[in-house]
Amino acid sequence: MKSTTDLNMVNAYIPGRARMEPATEAMIARRDALLGPAYRLMYEHPLHIVRGEGAWLIDPQGRRYLDVYNNVTSLGHCHPAVSEAICTQVRTLATNTRYLHDTILELAERLLATVQETDLAHLMLTCSGSEANDLAYRIAKVRTGGTGVIVTDTAYHGITDAVSQFSPSLGASVDLGPHVRLVPAPRLYHAEGADLAERFTHDVEAAIADLRRHGIKPAALIVDSLFTSDGILPEPAGLLKGAVDAIKRAGGLFIADEVQPGFGRTGEYMWGFQRHGLSPDIVTMGKPMGNGQPIAGLLASADALAEFGKNSRYFNTFAGNTVSCAAALAVLETIEREKLMQHAAKIGVLLRDGIADLATRHQSIGDVRGAGMFVGVELVLDRASREPDRRRTSQVVNRMRDKGILLSACAQGHNVLKIRPPLILSAEQAGMVINALDEALAETLHDV
Ligand code: PMP
Repeated sequence: MKSTTDLNMVNAYIPGRARMEPATEAMIARRDALLGPAYRLMYEHPLHIVRGEGAWLIDPQGRRYLDVYNNVTSLGHCHPAVSEAICTQVRTLATNTRYLHDTILELAERLLATVQETDLAHLMLTCSGSEANDLAYRIAKVRTGGTGVIVTDTAYHGITDAVSQFSPSLGASVDLGPHVRLVPAPRLYHAEGADLAERFTHDVEAAIADLRRHGIKPAALIVDSLFTSDGILPEPAGLLKGAVDAIKRAGGLFIADEVQPGFGRTGEYMWGFQRHGLSPDIVTMGKPMGNGQPIAGLLASADALAEFGKNSRYFNTFAGNTVSCAAALAVLETIEREKLMQHAAKIGVLLRDGIADLATRHQSIGDVRGAGMFVGVELVLDRASREPDRRRTSQVVNRMRDKGILLSACAQGHNVLKIRPPLILSAEQAGMVINALDEALAETLHDV
């Protein structure tokens, strides 16, 4: 089975399309020669960045770009508290999980305290979100004796061999496994009044039945609870409940992929699944966990992990190292100390309201949605048909970059602007995003 969308190409630099400064061209050529053909750069005019500071990225000439896309450095670039924690720890001790050390235990206690309403009981650490999902899938296979995986149609869960097989947004050139079933993401804007919870439950039940018909036992339903590659689909909250019950009834696990919505991004809750009132068997996390330090991992219930732990030895050289754990602890402390969830909720509303206001002037804005500091703006050819305006979306993304505002796009139709600023974004900076978007939409009107 092949997937149909390649989200990696939504906003990629295409060689030869735009004229470039000779210095930039030379750097791209050098990079291509050294790194080979698999890497992609963003934007028609790729950026060379030498420094980061709060919500800003800075190029060699000192030009500042407002970064409203990078949710790795979720507390802002080079946050002093995290930088300090990393430096102190790296000067003291950098070791692995084969020695006793307090920091990893404090980190586990703090993370588990955020999910007290669930059965999640243990923390395991990795270096990337892909590795966390890979490990979650291994655990699910051992626990259930099955291999079947159900994901949404434009989901991204990572790059390992196993995980890329259930990441349809990697595009048609990456095979989906025969044990993988896709269900339509719940697109409220296109639902025409249908009960999305009922439809999603039904689709997951049908996927389970189809797996069984092919002799495949279900292992897991894996969902990014904000559907961030599918187009940022936060509503209706509670929609996943029936589908989660269905996979559990079928003997499979529910894995919440919190790599994007986790660590307070949705404003209301620390984790996206909490907006849906769910109790996952496994929660995977990554990206913002170390504010740039490579740390990721999973929380699992005792029941999910028991069999795996009995039979498998888990050691991962860098994962859980003292420096990464110190960074992750500093991230959690900073979210709390700076009240960043409340801030994300407040500024997220400003962003959404401001962009919704633009929709009164710009017919191409079909829908504005989001939760906390995650905003999606769906651009359409006309509001009646709701047909995606992929070309305009790409033009707006590049025009915004030229105006010094960095964002990107996602969704099956490649037509949803993806705005994902650091949680520290100020009201003034949110205003800059809205004003620039107003201009970019006006300026691209006649290019279409
Ligand atoms: N899951 C989701 C939802 C993601 O968005 C990503 C990364 N974009 C991953 C998993 C993989 O994380 P990583 O790039 O750290 O391997």
